[in-house]
Amino acid sequence: MDVVTIHGCGLAGIFLGWRLWQRGISFRHLGERGVGASQAAAGLINPVTGKGMNVSWRIDEFLEEMREFYLDTGAMLGKRYLHEQPVLRIFVDAKEVRKFEQKKTELEPWLGDVYPVLTDVKGGEFGGVEWLGGGWVDVRSFVHDSLQFFAQEGIGAPGPAVDVFCEGSQGLLSGDFSYLPNRLAKGEILEVEVPGWGEQRILNRRGWCIPIGKNRYRVGATYEWEDLSSEPTPAGRAKLEQLMSEFTDLPYQVLGHVAGIRPIVRNSEPVIGPHPIEAQKYIFNGLGSKGCLYGPRAAGQLVSLLLDGQLVDEGLRVEDFSEKL
Ligand SMILES: Cc1cc2nc3c(=O)[nH]c(=O)nc-3n(C[C@H](O)[C@H](O)[C@H](O)COP(=O)(O)OP(=O)(O)OC[C@H]3O[C@@H](n4cnc5c(N)ncnc54)[C@H](O)[C@@H]3O)c2cc1C
Repeated sequence: MDVVTIHGCGLAGIFLGWRLWQRGISFRHLGERGVGASQAAAGLINPVTGKGMNVSWRIDEFLEEMREFYLDTGAMLGKRYLHEQPVLRIFVDAKEVRKFEQKKTELEPWLGDVYPVLTDVKGGEFGGVEWLGGGWVDVRSFVHDSLQFFAQEGIGAPGPAVDVFCEGSQGLLSGDFSYLPNRLAKGEILEVEVPGWGEQRILNRRGWCIPIGKNRYRVGATYEWEDLSSEPTPAGRAKLEQLMSEFTDLPYQVLGHVAGIRPIVRNSEPVIGPHPIEAQKYIFNGLGSKGCLYGPRAAGQLVSLLLDGQLVDEGLRVEDFSEKL
């Protein structure tokens, strides 16, 4: 029987599996499990990011579909994977406060409480703002549980006999789609336990600190473009410990230190569609630093293309890069 063959068991491969499952179409996953960027991802969803306080690309189109996706799949798996909570952006200095004031109108839809001063966080003298629409996804559990679910569910109706390459950074370095441009970025994060801190908000200043329950937090992330090995490094750890010290003076224990390579083609804008020459081969890649937000809708678009021949949204099409071949 014809099935869709998904190469890669990271977030992209899982999103695609769910979108096919929702349409009752058979698929199979190939590739090693428990490796890749998705094993390192902190799962942060942040509508306003970076020094420049930029609203995430086309977030209005992607955010609602993302919410619905994690709600539906969570219901199937009997667990909550998306934890929605505001992100507290702590201003670094007076310059950043001015920047915020200038951009306030544009940022209006994402504005929660604005604080002239934050007395309950370290270094809060310049105040801060809560971004609405944020949260975090428990990526590792989601990937693991989804693969288990797919294995138990058996197969559905015959699907198109195509191969979809969801190979993350490796698929951009070699193979049929390596003609695509890339700007891969290694990242490292720490998981720490801070007894007695009690901080429940996602904190964001230069980096972020995400409470994941039971006094545990994820802190990150580093960006590195030269060393693309997937091993955590002492230099990465030093940066992360420095970052942690900017959030709290309390002692903490490091529980984990992981690294991965972000599959970046153009910022964090996904790339989907057929190979320009080999029509049975498709790609779903380029989730960059924001796979949790952009992946669910992009996967839905790919399945609509595969099953209904529906045109993929502008800005996501792999055809945009055909001249690079
Ligand atoms: C440190 C760090 C922190 C991050 N934090 C966040 C965050 O807070 N929020 C967020 O949204 N995103 C975050 N990301 C980004 C997120 O991890 C990625 O967007 C997403 O995981 C990419 O998923 P993927 O499936 O494309 O790639 P991967 O997860 O890398 O999966 C690709 C898979 O394909 C497999 N593969 C490769 N070649 C083959 C082959 N030939 N055959 C079969 N399988 C193959 C690989 O082994 C791998 O398992 C972070 C990334 C890093 C590194």
